[in-house]
Amino acid sequence: MRILILSDIHSNIVALETVLSAARSFDTVWNLGDTIGYGPRPNECVATIRTVASVMLAGNHDLACLGLLDLSDFNPDARAANVWNGDQLTDDHRILLEELEPIQPIDDRFLAAHGSPREPIWEYLLTRYQAFDNFRRFDQQVCLIGHSHVPLIFQLTPEGRCEGPSSPDNGATLMLKPGFRYIINPGSVGQPRNQDPRAAFAVFDTSTDTITFHRVQYDVGRTQRQMHEAQLPAALITRLEYGI
Ligand code: ZN
Repeated sequence: MRILILSDIHSNIVALETVLSAARSFDTVWNLGDTIGYGPRPNECVATIRTVASVMLAGNHDLACLGLLDLSDFNPDARAANVWNGDQLTDDHRILLEELEPIQPIDDRFLAAHGSPREPIWEYLLTRYQAFDNFRRFDQQVCLIGHSHVPLIFQLTPEGRCEGPSSPDNGATLMLKPGFRYIINPGSVGQPRNQDPRAAFAVFDTSTDTITFHRVQYDVGRTQRQMHEAQLPAALITRLEYGI
């Protein structure tokens, strides 16, 4: 089975459609949250992802757009975009998003959490110190996270040593080894932040037990024009071309 691992789509339908076609054949999608917020096409993104995803998490932006998190926790640009995104949602999509959780076991082997196992809504899990403590908060071999928008791998060796983060490049493949445990972030589809504007995603191939990391160029200008039309904040429009 080929499972697409996506996170932080952020209402960027151009990036999402590019990723789905770049991934070619896949059997299902695990979506790690923040489907909406920031970008210009919230309903289109929810409509597209719901047809292919078997796992959907709620991220902090999803919850804010729904009015379930305090908007004062966000900077003014993010807040304005969240209000706009929330206003656009159809009732159907609102109900669907309201039912999601920020953390969800997928099976005996995989856990999905938007931010981290210990703080699923808010933690930006970026350091080895954080990863070490988080490995103690779940039992599965692999935890998949999003939220920071940065592709990362942490691993815990059978001896209990925490290693990483490593930053997988386009095409990098991780073989899941017995006895090792992992925390993995595929990066962001709709608003990449590691100085690389290309959309990020990962593919888990169950036949080889590998996770491959991908970056794909999409039409950033088209998303930016959609954002201009929606009068979304200028800084959010500009950052997309720099990957920040
Ligand atoms: Zn996000």
